[in-house]
Amino acid sequence: MRYSGSALSVNGVTKRFGGLVAVDNMEFSVGEHEMVGIIGPNGSGKTTMMNMISGTFKPTSGSISMMGSRISDLPAQEITRRGVGRTFQLVRLLPSLSVLENVIAGAVFGHRKRWGREAEDHAHRMLERVGMDAMSYAPVSSLTYIDQKRVELARVLAGDPEILLLDEWLAGLNPTELETGIELIHDLRKEGRTVILVEHVMDAIRSLCDRCVVMSSGVKIAEGSPDVVLSDPEVIRAYLGD
Ligand code: ADP
Repeated sequence: MRYSGSALSVNGVTKRFGGLVAVDNMEFSVGEHEMVGIIGPNGSGKTTMMNMISGTFKPTSGSISMMGSRISDLPAQEITRRGVGRTFQLVRLLPSLSVLENVIAGAVFGHRKRWGREAEDHAHRMLERVGMDAMSYAPVSSLTYIDQKRVELARVLAGDPEILLLDEWLAGLNPTELETGIELIHDLRKEGRTVILVEHVMDAIRSLCDRCVVMSSGVKIAEGSPDVVLSDPEVIRAYLGD
């Protein structure tokens, strides 16, 4: 039977680094096909939360479940295999390999494993999807920053993730690139993908997200539709104090 609850649920998750509580008893869920933004001032625990969802860090306490089954005890590669795909704040591609080889790696090591010709064909489709197929044979190191970001998105999509984590994917883009970037995320929304994004670009949060979760000092201080949350006095105070 298909699981009918949340795609992802974060249940009372805390992460300590020595004496520092980076994430404190976080609780939220993400429905299937939902796009949820995690926002908050610098140092509020957003990246730590993403790292726990993708398995880079284990929670100190609490649990994270995907489609009802617990993933927070699993190694990161196993979480990827179960269907959590992520992009990183600083693009993580293999610079000496070609664009296509990087995306093939995403298809081979992703959720729905593909090999050989099938992986290559799928990689080409994902590169077309982000407008980069013409650059398939270029070395990644020769690409502009936005193009590297597109390739990273293609790499993650090539693994057919059930849940996509975008960690400040729009950061560092100039205004024209930002428009293109937002359009690409809009396409993911139209495809009905389940996406969690950490983002500082509030226009993007407003236009893309169904819901957002606001963190401050490791704690969830608000949750709801972007328009409501972004006019919440407590949220405004948290940002002004940044
Ligand atoms: P955000 O992504 O919202 O800017 P982070 O999750 O990066 O916040 O950081 C939350 C807090 O946890 C910060 O005080 C940061 O210094 C601390 N922190 C994050 N990662 C580590 C780590 N690996 N070791 C120690 N402290 C960390």
